[in-house]
Amino acid sequence: SLVFNSIKLTGFKSFVEPTEFLIEPGLTGIVGPNGCGKSNLLEAIRWVMGANSAKAMRGAAMEDVIFNGTKTRPGRNQAHVTITVDNSARIAPPAFNDEDTLEIMRIIEKDKGSKYKINGKTVRAKDVQLLFADASTGANSPALVRQGQISELIAAKPSNRRRILEEAAGISGLHSRRHEAELR
Ligand code: ATP
Ligand code: MG
Repeated sequence: SLVFNSIKLTGFKSFVEPTEFLIEPGLTGIVGPNGCGKSNLLEAIRWVMGANSAKAMRGAAMEDVIFNGTKTRPGRNQAHVTITVDNSARIAPPAFNDEDTLEIMRIIEKDKGSKYKINGKTVRAKDVQLLFADASTGANSPALVRQGQISELIAAKPSNRRRILEEAAGISGLHSRRHEAELR
């Protein structure tokens, strides 16, 4: 299964200066005052894993993830997020599978769209999405729990509960895998 080691953000939403978080084994909670960037951090994790809808990033356009400035600080032209994952379980595509850790990076530049790298080599969005879809299944795989998702779960009808749990467990990623297989 997939183990996150750290996440680095630069120019992503409110994380304008390079910021690194080390992720310890087990359950990680993010706490802090309103507006400090907790949801932005979760969005950064989804984004570097290949999330592609502006809605999932709470913006109108994908470029809205770039720090857009404050009264005292100019906006940036690019954002990047790097997530380091443990590859001792050999979860990577063949080209990277000799490596013990993987650095997955996504960069977005204004007017240029975004690109992805694994250990410094440019890869397709699909490569990153499939890496995470494949590695995210299994009992010990990571799950990202969005704000409001717990209360949604408690209030939901049993039939909707399954959808919410599948989403949190990342199983919905498998549909993308199946789709790619059909295209081949
Ligand atoms: P809450 O406890 O209310 O849920 P939170 O810790 O989840 O708060 P976030 O939603 O992660 O907070 O952060 C909100 C802050 O991020 C706001 O101040 C908002 O202006 C800032 N922000 C969002 N997008 C950008 C951007 N593109 N550039 C600069 N700042 C941004
Ligand atoms: Mg929040």
